[in-house]
This record gives sequence, C-alpha cells and structure tokens, in this order.
Amino acid sequence: METARSDRELTGPFWAAVDRGELVRPVCDQCGHNFFSPHVVCPACQSVDWSYQPSSGRGRVYSHTTIHRPPDPSFEAPYVVADIELDEGWRMFAWVVGCDPADVHIDMPVTVAFVASPGGERLPAFRPAS
Ligand code: ZN
Repeated sequence: METARSDRELTGPFWAAVDRGELVRPVCDQCGHNFFSPHVVCPACQSVDWSYQPSSGRGRVYSHTTIHRPPDPSFEAPYVVADIELDEGWRMFAWVVGCDPADVHIDMPVTVAFVASPGGERLPAFRPAS
C-alpha cells in the first residue's frame, strides 16, 4: 500500500528545481492532469501516482494585482502579484518583475525568471516575454 507523501516530500523537488533554475509542476501519471500546488493525490482522478515534470516556464497573466503597501518594509513596493497560466495548462501565483506594474495586463505573455526574496530565498517569478 502506498503511503502518503509528507509536506517535505511534496514540495522538496519543486524547491530543488528552483535552486537549479528550473520550473517544474506535478503531472498525473494516470490521467495526465497538470496541477499546482502539489497534493498527495491528483485533484482530477485521486491517483497517488504523479511526478514532477519540467515546465516551459512560458505562460500568460491570468489575473493580477498591484501591492502598494507591502506586508514587510523589506519588500520594495509597488509590486505585482499575478496568477500565471502556464502553457501546460496549470496556474501558479508569482511576482511579475522586469516591467512597470502599470504595464502588467491580463493575457500578457510572460516567461519564468528566478529572483531572490527579501529574505534571500530563490523564488520563481515571471517577466514579460520578449
Ligand atoms: Zn489524475
């Protein structure tokens, strides 16, 4: 019988990929569903058989908001947090960097970029696609 993955087992491969400068997402080995964030079971078919697969890192802004008053003074505001729809059909929340916040718009093509958080952790973000 399969045992449930721990939180570290669920997210560890994602962060290890980010440290290598790669973006990955869970893909169900049974039904092919792409999902994010990682879950113990596939949200489409409830299979425990899924694996991380590389993402192109390309997508579009599904929706976005501009933060003018940051939760911590170490964050430089204003900045954009967006719901990014990746080309493989999955979505994640991330910062949009590399452009004026006023230029971010729905359906804007973006590509993954890796940035350092104010605390120094490497995070996936997105910048306008050239
Ligand atoms: Zn599935």
